Amino acid sequence: MRTSRAVPADELRQILAGTGAVVRSAVPLAELTTLRVGGRATVADCGTTAALVATVQALDTAAIPVLLVAGGSNLLVSDEDVASVVVRVVTEGVEFGADSVTAEAGANWDDVVAKSVRAGFGGLECLSGIPGSAGATPVQNVGAYGVEVANLLRRVQLLDRATGDIHWAGPDELAFGYRTSRLKHRDDAVVLAVEFALHPDGTSAPLRYGELAQRLDATEGETRPAAVVRETVLGLRAGKGMVLDPADHDTWSAGSFFTNPVVPDGEVDRVRAAIRDRLGEVSVPTYPGTGGVKFSAGWLIERAGFAKGFPGAEAPARLSTKHTLALTNRGAATAADIVALARTVRDGVAERFGVVLVPEPVTVGVEL
Ligand SMILES: Cc1cc2nc3c(=O)[nH]c(=O)nc-3n(C[C@H](O)[C@H](O)[C@H](O)COP(=O)(O)OP(=O)(O)OC[C@H]3O[C@@H](n4cnc5c(N)ncnc54)[C@H](O)[C@@H]3O)c2cc1C
Repeated sequence: MRTSRAVPADELRQILAGTGAVVRSAVPLAELTTLRVGGRATVADCGTTAALVATVQALDTAAIPVLLVAGGSNLLVSDEDVASVVVRVVTEGVEFGADSVTAEAGANWDDVVAKSVRAGFGGLECLSGIPGSAGATPVQNVGAYGVEVANLLRRVQLLDRATGDIHWAGPDELAFGYRTSRLKHRDDAVVLAVEFALHPDGTSAPLRYGELAQRLDATEGETRPAAVVRETVLGLRAGKGMVLDPADHDTWSAGSFFTNPVVPDGEVDRVRAAIRDRLGEVSVPTYPGTGGVKFSAGWLIERAGFAKGFPGAEAPARLSTKHTLALTNRGAATAADIVALARTVRDGVAERFGVVLVPEPVTVGVEL
């Protein structure tokens, strides 16, 4: 665990002088997160990889706690001022090889996908429309529409904060799992760049997601032109409020707030019995999971009595009106409002079905 101490602004500027970071004081994190909640922090904007490395190393040497933030789309930050210095990853470089793309960590992820499709490459199109940065995609093994970062990532460039070593690591070193990796909930490494394998012939990854395949009139496992798949994915996502739109409060979220729970094999019968007790004989959507059976968090939430838009039009924090799994800020919500809603939903599902939902976003200064 890193030690910490409060640092006066002048001293901090001195510590970061020469790193290339642009330092700003008292920045509301509500302006840097897609849930649009979070107290103030000192922010160091790092526009080059060299500045990112130098800034993190200078803060580590001075024993000042660091919070890495890029797109802020997977973060729930408390309403209190944040003690850590926010190191903001705003690098941008993107380069294509014969069958790959390399992006600096701060590059906007959807721009990387759009550029790769425009350049005639396939592979990333199912991950279209996901907010945030390229460098954060390995952190939680970002996934959508049947594709995960783990399927496509060739390597990731890491700064090891303990040793200062900068090296490339392959997917086998990252312990990828469902919405997790060895980088999630840890702070010992900074992602500096990512490299993804692409299909130079412009075909999509094999279609694995029923709804998407159906929309494309394809059978699962078939491919389609990447550009066509991208447009279809963007359409499906927009219908669920899963493409950022400042005018649409259904998108003021962190995406899916809970992961789909993987119930260990030995507990599946108990959960199925609890569902039967409450709902009678119903068809329960499940998927294979590692070490158990994956249930649909959205289905459990709805069947536990939390409809889209819960708890109603007056509430500052509500379930999205388009997608039960997104907790949304209707404009005036605080982090405390989001947390209260998350607890109500989690506790309701646990009480009715005996499944404890786990939040997907990284929480800072708050606990559910
Ligand atoms: C509308 C919406 C839809 C979404 N849909 C999906 C989806 O379909 N699938 C999915 O998987 N996710 C989805 N998300 C979640 C989110 O977009 C992804 O997790 C995204 O990769 C987060 O990127 P970010 O740059 O915003 O990360 P941030 O929110 O800035 O950070 C998230 C975590 O990663 C760490 N981090 C950030 N950058 C680095 C770095 N360079 N090195 C080390 N650690 C770092 C941060 O410290 C933090 O712990 C969605 C979110 C929203 C708002």
